[in-house]
Amino acid sequence: MQEKFEQSLIIMKPDALQRNLMGEIISRFERKGLKIIGLKMLDVSDVLIEEHYGHLKDKPFFESIRNYIQSSPVIVMALVGINAVSAIRLVVGPTAGFEADAGSIRGDFSMSKQSNLVHASDSVENGISEVKRFFKDDELFNYKKIDTDFIYSDSK
Ligand code: ADP
Repeated sequence: MQEKFEQSLIIMKPDALQRNLMGEIISRFERKGLKIIGLKMLDVSDVLIEEHYGHLKDKPFFESIRNYIQSSPVIVMALVGINAVSAIRLVVGPTAGFEADAGSIRGDFSMSKQSNLVHASDSVENGISEVKRFFKDDELFNYKKIDTDFIYSDSK
């Protein structure tokens, strides 16, 4: 297994905010050992939605996604870790909450395909481009985290 640091964009969607699950969700990523390098609240503009969900713009539910994502502010977070993209997708679970394994965020807290609480980047390339989409350079922080040697080890 190749070890490399990867970035992932997390969006805590309006249902996470309305259902008071922000702290729970952040805590799950922290406890997993992921490093937070950016965190902020914002209203998602039409331009950002069309870029971010461009792969779904021909779907009949696209306007429903827009209404959902724009129904309140969201919190976005940039996470870093070795093999972070696939590890985070496991923490989050598959798209439909009603099919997600218990123990994942969606499996524990979501019963819906649309209202599934979080977005997480689905590839290493998308992790890099999505973090750039939502964060300016001066909103991202490069710092040493003192638990790194205990989260990872020399022999995997
Ligand atoms: P994921 O977020 O698991 O990577 P997709 O990229 O396929 O999933 O979809 C993006 C988001 O669009 C989903 O997280 C969900 O909020 C919404 N979505 C996807 N498929 C549907 C659907 N069939 N009906 C309603 N909303 C959907």
